[in-house]
Amino acid sequence: MMTAVRQIDCQEALEHLYAYLDGELDDVREEEVRAHLDQCAPCLRVSRFETAFLRFLEARTRAKGAPEHVRKRVLAQLLFTEDEPERR
Ligand SMILES: [Zn+2]
Repeated sequence: MMTAVRQIDCQEALEHLYAYLDGELDDVREEEVRAHLDQCAPCLRVSRFETAFLRFLEARTRAKGAPEHVRKRVLAQLLFTEDEPERR
């Protein structure tokens, strides 16, 4: 099935970025944001940063009480992971 994805601009993409990362967007909007990130390096970079940040918050919660050097290593790994955005 071919569906034309509406082009959205950076402002709109970033507006929905958190919901997108949380998987809270409906299918159509999720596709719009994903299509934008595919074409827009600056927004993709923001998206990666936010993803790392969200993971960091989670990891920090889990790692509470972990030694400082462990927490730093976890954070470093998260920030320098160059994985592609998840595709479904
Ligand atoms: Zn953009």
